[in-house]
Amino acid sequence: MTVTDEIKSRLDIVDVISDSVQLRKSGSSYTGFCPFHPNTRTPAFVVFPNTQTWRCFGACAEGGDLFSFVMKKEGWDFKETLTHLANRAGVELRPADPQDKVQRAVEDKLADLLEGVSDYYSQLLLFAPQAEYARQYVSERGLNDETVSTFKVGYALDSWDACRNHFNMQGYSDEDLEDAGLLTLNEEKGTRYDRFRNRLMIPIRDVRGRIVGFGARTLDPDGLPKYLNSPQTAVFDKSRLLFGLDLARRHIRSERQVVIVEGYMDVMQAWQAGFLNVVAQMGTALTEAQLRLLKRFTKRFILALDADAAGGQATLRSLEVAREVLDRGADARFNARGLVRHEGRLQADIRIVTLPEGTDPDKIIRMDRERWPELIEQAKPVVEYVIDVAVESLDMGDAKAKAAVAEQVLPLIDDVKNPVEREHYRQLLARRLQVDERVLLKVTMPAKPWRSRTAQGRGKKSTGEHQGQDIESKGLVVAISGSSAASDMRRADFLRQCLAYPQVINQVDKQLAQNQQPVVSEADFSRLDDRFLWRQIKGRQSQRPIAAIDDLWDSSEDEFLRERVLDLLTLPDTPESELNRLPDRLVLSVLDWRLERIKSLIAELELLKRETRTQDNPEMHEIYNQQLPELLMQRLGIDRARGAMSATGRRQTGAQNSLHRKLVGTD
Ligand SMILES: [Zn+2]
Repeated sequence: MTVTDEIKSRLDIVDVISDSVQLRKSGSSYTGFCPFHPNTRTPAFVVFPNTQTWRCFGACAEGGDLFSFVMKKEGWDFKETLTHLANRAGVELRPADPQDKVQRAVEDKLADLLEGVSDYYSQLLLFAPQAEYARQYVSERGLNDETVSTFKVGYALDSWDACRNHFNMQGYSDEDLEDAGLLTLNEEKGTRYDRFRNRLMIPIRDVRGRIVGFGARTLDPDGLPKYLNSPQTAVFDKSRLLFGLDLARRHIRSERQVVIVEGYMDVMQAWQAGFLNVVAQMGTALTEAQLRLLKRFTKRFILALDADAAGGQATLRSLEVAREVLDRGADARFNARGLVRHEGRLQADIRIVTLPEGTDPDKIIRMDRERWPELIEQAKPVVEYVIDVAVESLDMGDAKAKAAVAEQVLPLIDDVKNPVEREHYRQLLARRLQVDERVLLKVTMPAKPWRSRTAQGRGKKSTGEHQGQDIESKGLVVAISGSSAASDMRRADFLRQCLAYPQVINQVDKQLAQNQQPVVSEADFSRLDDRFLWRQIKGRQSQRPIAAIDDLWDSSEDEFLRERVLDLLTLPDTPESELNRLPDRLVLSVLDWRLERIKSLIAELELLKRETRTQDNPEMHEIYNQQLPELLMQRLGIDRARGAMSATGRRQTGAQNSLHRKLVGTD
C-alpha cells in the first residue's frame, strides 16, 4: 500500500469535508453547498462515502478524492496536502533519501538566512539615518507604512560589505551568503562583495510565504540596472515564482480571477488600493510553471501588461505558452461530467488588458483608483486581442500577409470550445481581414479529432439518444466504484510500458485521434501520483526508456512519487516479440478504463436521480437530466472506437484480437 492509499484508508472523506462544508445525509450520499463556487440555493455538492469521492454538479462540474478536495480547498500542492493529511491520519511519511535530506537542510538554512537578511534590510529602512533618502523615495512612490510592513520592504546600505560583515558576525560564512545570492564574486581578484547596494529591497516569497530572494530597485538616479533580482539559487528560480502570490492566493480564489502585472510596485500599489488578486511575473514571459501554479487558484487570468509594441510581442509569446499549458489542462475534459456542455467552462479564460500608452498599473491606480477596475473589466478575450495585434500593422493590399494572419489566427479560433464564440471570432477575423467569412472556412487546418467527434455526435443525436436509453438501464447494474482493480492494473501497465517505451505514446495518441477520441491526458489517471508521473513522462519528450527513477527527476521535488515508480518498474516489460502489438494493446486499455469510468459516472448519476425526489429538489433533478444524455453520448463514442479498433485488429491479424482480449480482458 502506498502512503496515499494508507492515508485514504485511515481517513473518512465525509469527516474531512465536514470540517469546512455542512453536509446533509441524502440517501447513500451527503449533499451540501459547493465550497468552490458561490451558491446558496442548490446544494449541488455531493460526497459519496462508498467510493470516498466528491463531485459538484453545479457550476464547477468537478470532482475527485480526498486529496483533490484538500488541494483545491486549501490551495496546496500535492506535497503540502500529503504532509497535512499524513499528519492527520497518523501516517508516518517515509524518510527521504539522504540526498534529499541534505538538499532540504540546505534550503532550510537558506530560508532562515534570507528571513534574517530581510529583517535586517527592513530595520535599516525604518530606522537607519542613511535610509532617509530611501524613506523619502517610498513615500514619493505613495506606499504607506502598512504596505511597507506587509511586504517587508527594506533598504540595503550604500556599502560594499555592510551586509556581509553583519551576517559574518552572526556566524554565516561568505559561502552561505553567496549561496543565498547576497554576495557577488569578483573572479579576477577572488574577492566577494555585497550584491545589493543602495537599493530598495523587496523580498520575494514563494507561494507558502517563505522568503526566497529579493527584487531590488536602485535609489541612485543613474544606477543600473534599475531593478536587480537575486541570482538563481537553490531556492530562487524566478521562472517558477510570482511576486505577491503568497498574499494574493486567497483573494484570487475568492474573486475567481488573477491579474498578472509586470512589476513589484504595481502589485504593492494594487494591494494598498484594495485590489488584492494581483501578482507580478518577474521580467520574463509567463512560464508554464507559473501558469500551473496559478491554475491551482483560478482558471481566469487577466494579463495587464505595458502598452508598447515590444510589450505586445512579449504578450503574444506568453500566450503561446499559456495556450499550450491550458490546452493540456483542458484535457481534464475527460474527467468532468457533462464534458461537451462544460467544455468552454472548464478551459481557462485568459484576457488581456492593454494599458494606455506610457502608463503602468502603479501610475494608473495612484492617479485614479477607479480607473483600474474599469480597465480590468475591459480586458479582451485572447482571440480578440490576437486578432487586433495581428491585424494592426497589416497592409490590406498584401494578399500573402493576409493569408499568413489567417493561418496564424485560425488555429486559435479553432481551439475555442464554444461554437457560438468560435463563429463570433471567425466573423470578427473575416471583417478585420476584409474577406468573406466563407473563404476562411476553406483555409485548411490540421484535423481536430475532438471537434470532429462532437460534430459527429451532434449530427447523430437521435440515434445516440435512442441507444442511450438502452445503456441507461444497464448503467444501474454497474456497481458504483471509483475504479476497479482491473482498470487500476491497466493504468499501471500502461504507465509501465510508457516508462520502457516512451515512443509508444505518440502512436497511442495517434490511434486515439484516428478513432475520434481525446489523446491520453492527466485526467485519464485516477491516482494523483499517476497524474504527476504522467506529466513527468510527457514532459521529457525523449525517446529513451526510463530505467531508473533518477532518469525522471533531477530534484527532490517529487520524492513521494518515487515509491510509485519503483512499484511500476517491478511490473513485467513487453517481450520483444509483442512490441509491434503494443500500441494497439495500450489503446484498448485506455478505451477500457475510460469506458469503465463513464459507466460509473452514469451509475452515480442514476443513483442520485433516484434518491432525489423531484419535488424536493427540482433544480438538481433538472441538472441530472441534462447531464445524463451527454455522458451516454460519450459512452457511445468509446464503444464505437473500441469496435473500430477490434475490427482493424481482426483485419490485420486474426490472432491479434484474441491476444487483445487476453491481455486487457475486454471479453
Ligand atoms: Zn461547485
